[in-house]
Amino acid sequence: MPQPYTGIFTLLLRRFMQQINKIYLLLKEPRRVVITTHQKPDGDAMGSSLGLFHFLKQFGHHVTVISPTNWADFLDWMPGSKEVLDYERQTPEANAVIDSADWIFCLDFNTLNRTRRMEERLGNANGKRILIDHHQEPQVDKFAYGISETTKSSTCEMVYDLIINSGNDDKINESVAECLYAGVMTDTGSFRFPITTAAVHRMVASLKDKGLQHSRVHEELFDNYLENRFRFIGNVLQNRLQVFYEYNTALIAVPQQDLVKYNIITGDTEGLVNYPLSIKGIKLAAIIIDRGEERKCSFRSKGGFDVNTFARKYFSGGGHFNAAGGQSKEPLEEVEAKFIQAMKENKDQLSNYQF
Ligand code: 5GP
Ligand code: MN
Repeated sequence: MPQPYTGIFTLLLRRFMQQINKIYLLLKEPRRVVITTHQKPDGDAMGSSLGLFHFLKQFGHHVTVISPTNWADFLDWMPGSKEVLDYERQTPEANAVIDSADWIFCLDFNTLNRTRRMEERLGNANGKRILIDHHQEPQVDKFAYGISETTKSSTCEMVYDLIINSGNDDKINESVAECLYAGVMTDTGSFRFPITTAAVHRMVASLKDKGLQHSRVHEELFDNYLENRFRFIGNVLQNRLQVFYEYNTALIAVPQQDLVKYNIITGDTEGLVNYPLSIKGIKLAAIIIDRGEERKCSFRSKGGFDVNTFARKYFSGGGHFNAAGGQSKEPLEEVEAKFIQAMKENKDQLSNYQF
C-alpha cells in the first residue's frame, strides 16, 4: 500500500507537465524513441513526425514512427514514410516498440483517444510521453514533458522551434525541411489563414536557405490525385451541398454509397470541407461523411465563429478555433439534422459576420 503522502506527491507530479526545454540537454544521449500522431494523419501530423524523425536520427537515437491508422497516398512521397508503422496493420511489432521506448513523442494531438486502438498501449507505456501540439485543452496529466501552444500555426512550426531553440539549426537537412514545410503549408491553407504569423514566413525563408524545393512539395501533395476523385467532387458539389444563406453556412453530407461508387480511399476527401468557404458570405462550412463505422464531421469557419467549441458541444470533437472535427455513431440523416439544429441555435453569431 502506498503511503498517503507519497500518493498525493505522485499525483501532483503526474499533473505537472514539465517544459519541453528540459529535454534539450538530453537530446545528445541516444535513446529508444517512438514518435506518434493522431489517427488518419494529415500533412502536419505526418510532416512533424517525419521531420522530428530525421532530426533525432542524427543524434544516434533509435527512432520509430508509428501511425495509429493508415494514411493518405499523397503523403507517401515524404522521406521516411516507407519506414512508418501502421498500428492497425502491424500491431505486435508496434506494441513491442512502444513497450521498449524511453521516449514517446506525441505530435499534433493532445488527448490519447485521438490514437484510437493505440490509446491503451500508449497510456500504459513506461516510456516518458512528450507532447508537442497546438490544439486546445491538452490532457496535461498524461505527459511528462511537453509544449502546448494554440497560437502556433502547426506542429511542424513547433518542431522547427524545438530544433532552433535547442541550438541544432545545423541539423536541418533537406528531409527535415521538406517534411516541416509540408505540414506548415497544409495546416495554414497555403499560408492564408490568420494564424500565419511573420515567424511562419521567417521559418519558411530559413528552410529555403537550407535548400528546400517548395514547388516539388506542392506538386507531390496536390497534383497526384486520380481522376475518380474529381468525378466524386463534381458529384458532391452538384448533389450533396446545401447552402443556408440566412445562416452564412454550408453543409455537405456524403452518404457511404458515394464513397463506394467513386472508389474513395483515405485522403480523397481531404480539403473538401473548404470548398464552400469560397462562396461569397459563407462563414461556416461543414462536411459529414458516412464512413460506415462512424459519421466523421469536419468544420471550418472564417472570422469569429469558434468551431472548436461547436465541435465539442455537439459532436464529441474538438480542434482549433477555425478548424475542428468530431464524429457520431448516429445515422447520417440524424447527424445532418443535428447539425442544422445546432446551426439554428447559433444563428446570432452566424448571421453577424465580422472579419
Ligand atoms: P479535420 O477536419 O481536418 O479532420 O480536423 C480539423 C482539426 O480538428 C484538426 O486539427 C484535428 O486534429 C481536429 N479534429 C478532427 N476531428 C477531431 C475529433 O474527433 N476530436 C478532436 N478532439 N479533434 C478533432
Ligand atoms: Mn496540426
